[in-house]
Formats: sequence, structure tokens, C-alpha cells
Amino acid sequence: MSDHVDNTDKIIFAEVTRGLAAVRSRPALVAYGCCYFCDEALAPAMLFCGVDCRDDYDKEQAAKARAGRPG
Ligand SMILES: [Zn+2]
Repeated sequence: MSDHVDNTDKIIFAEVTRGLAAVRSRPALVAYGCCYFCDEALAPAMLFCGVDCRDDYDKEQAAKARAGRPG
């Protein structure tokens, strides 16, 4: 029983660590009132108008990183 709990803890810890690494690897974005991907006007604290734009922005940034160009 305790083995099962230990394993679950390890899995959760690994997931959290992976999530934090993903967040830390992304340059800090500052909300500026528009979607970072499509420039749609947003509430001041938002970075993207939706998950589609967030995902597309991430893909674009990853592609730029692979191409060796900053930002
Ligand atoms: Zn957008």
C-alpha cells in the first residue's frame, strides 16, 4: 500500500517538475492588452485570446528557437 502511494507521489512530482520546467523555459511575457499571436484586443491581464493562439504562439516560438533566431 505504501509502495503504491510512494509511486503516485513520484509521478505527481515528475509531472509538476516538468510543468515548472516548461514555464521557466518560456520567456516571461508581459500582458499588453492584445493577444500576442493575433493582436486581438484583450482584458489587460491576458496574454492570448484563447488556447489556439497560445498554442500557435508556442509553436512559432519553438520554430524560431530551432532556427536559431531570438524572440
Ligand atoms: Zn489571438
